[in-house]
Amino acid sequence: MHLTDHISDVQLNEYLDNESADRAEIETHLDSCDECAARLSALQALFTDLDSLPEVTLSTNLAARFTSDRKLVPQLPRWLTLTASLQAAAALVALIVAIPFFSIMLPKIEAPSFTELLFELQSIWASWLDALSNYQLPNYQFTDLPTYPVELSTLFIALAIVSIFWIFGNGLLLRNQTK
Ligand SMILES: [Zn+2]
Repeated sequence: MHLTDHISDVQLNEYLDNESADRAEIETHLDSCDECAARLSALQALFTDLDSLPEVTLSTNLAARFTSDRKLVPQLPRWLTLTASLQAAAALVALIVAIPFFSIMLPKIEAPSFTELLFELQSIWASWLDALSNYQLPNYQFTDLPTYPVELSTLFIALAIVSIFWIFGNGLLLRNQTK
């Protein structure tokens, strides 16, 4: 630092913090330069004022907002929990609808009692579907009926799988939010 150079603000701050490497040179300059001496005393006065400021206690504890004593899940909007419930119900319905058609895809190595139960369910379901299709489509061709449940089963199974993935996805999403 040249003696004729004025002391920079950074150097003054470092000098006040006792972190200056060239204290001797600064003090020499301060002795000969009223301008820098005035800046130093102004800076000292500012720090003194800052130190004298009272410690203000916050009226509300900000940290409390970030603690987890309030659960996030109950704070979720009502429509969201309702949507989740409806999705769960839809998935359940899709599963129940799809179960009879799983027997079509089940290999013969399954336990006989389980397969019999599924076939029983399937026959009940097929007859109910027949009634339904006869009611909705009076002109439905009888010869088309054998292929009808198979095509529907694919649709329902796909629906059930999609619904299950949807539910698991939502579950993971909500679990991540509560972390
Ligand atoms: Zn100076």
